[in-house]
Amino acid sequence: MNIMKKIKITGNNIEDLLINLGQITLEVTDACNLKCKYCAYGDLYSGYDVRENKYLSFETVKTLIDYLSELWKSKISTSQIPKTHIGFYGGEPLMNIKLIKKTVEYIENLNIRRNFAFIMTTNAMLLDRYMNFLVEKKFNLLISLDGDSEGQSYRVNHSGRNSFDIVYRNVKLLQAKYPQYFEEHVEFNSVLHNRNSVERTFTFIKNEFAKKPTIAELNSFGIREDKIDEFYATYNNKAKSLYSSDNCDKLSDEMFVGVPQTKELFSFLKYYSGNVFVNYNYLLFDKSKLKYITTGTCSPFSRKLFLTVNGKIIQCERIHHSFALGNVENGKVNLDFEYVATRFNAYLDKLYKQCLTCFRKQYCNQCFYSIPGIDGEKPTCNSFMNKEDFEEYKMRCLNHLNKYPKLYKKLMTEAFTE
Ligand code: SF4
Ligand code: SF4
Repeated sequence: MNIMKKIKITGNNIEDLLINLGQITLEVTDACNLKCKYCAYGDLYSGYDVRENKYLSFETVKTLIDYLSELWKSKISTSQIPKTHIGFYGGEPLMNIKLIKKTVEYIENLNIRRNFAFIMTTNAMLLDRYMNFLVEKKFNLLISLDGDSEGQSYRVNHSGRNSFDIVYRNVKLLQAKYPQYFEEHVEFNSVLHNRNSVERTFTFIKNEFAKKPTIAELNSFGIREDKIDEFYATYNNKAKSLYSSDNCDKLSDEMFVGVPQTKELFSFLKYYSGNVFVNYNYLLFDKSKLKYITTGTCSPFSRKLFLTVNGKIIQCERIHHSFALGNVENGKVNLDFEYVATRFNAYLDKLYKQCLTCFRKQYCNQCFYSIPGIDGEKPTCNSFMNKEDFEEYKMRCLNHLNKYPKLYKKLMTEAFTE
């Protein structure tokens, strides 16, 4: 087991991460044409800014882009041209198509040595109106669809009507009109709950659209105290749902790393088999000398920067808005790199002692922003593993491998090269 060295990030690191920023996600509106029961911004959860049907202004976006462009120009990369993805997020982003079009045009005319690509998560309700533009700009689309009509029945409009018919019709239209685009740029995300199952959802999307959806459980963080019973009545466990299927083996084979146990085995092989080298450096250095940032939290802006409809700058869209690191206000970006680094280090410090004795520290994927009470004096990480927990985890992975021995070769040859 490696000895974990304490590492701190600095203001300079934050600047470098912004210079190499790979993704900006813009919350273009908090308005939505649907009112999904389990929406992270809906009745079940707390911790997000109140939804007020706001629309992000182009001025705010432009201020942020101009600020980043200056940073990007300040360090000229001599080798590869860097690439940044611009993500449009909501609410339902297509409800603010005006801003999306203006932003795309602005980015395309930036006189800067950088490539851009556009991505969007959408409920597809307005896809029929705007698909020509999305196709022309080669947007990568992530469509939210929970399977067949019954599976989709929590995704309702404001009058409580199931959105299935409209979404299905729109997606079929896109597929028929632009088959090549559809094949190359469209993916599906499905939420698992008590009205669908892994098998039904996966099979439906595969048969109808020739795609393998990502199937996600309901988010169990930030549930309102008075909604816990309702949450558990709606919740469906992914592994349980999969293993209760009559076609479990065939389905597991097709879903591959989408199977929770296979995903767990994948990270086990990656970190503990000794046979995986993430890059050439891993071949050259003694891994025990490497320093690890504790917890599985990404460093600020190493993955993305999220701008909320209220102008807050946050690490990503999955965490509470109270963790804002800065903002865009009155034509100015307020982002103090030293403050961002200090705040991040302070959270790491709070968990350091616990992480030090934790047996999963080497492959930890726990984001500290979702540890209950992280803003308090002594937060406790519920994902902590002692020696026995770790042995149990190890056995779980090995048993899964014993049951499906072909997975080893498949993971090594396919998953690591993806
Ligand atoms: S959830 Fe946490 S680890 Fe994941 S991208 Fe967001 S901040 Fe980073
Ligand atoms: S699981 Fe929790 S205690 Fe263990 S290393 Fe990760 S953050 Fe630290």
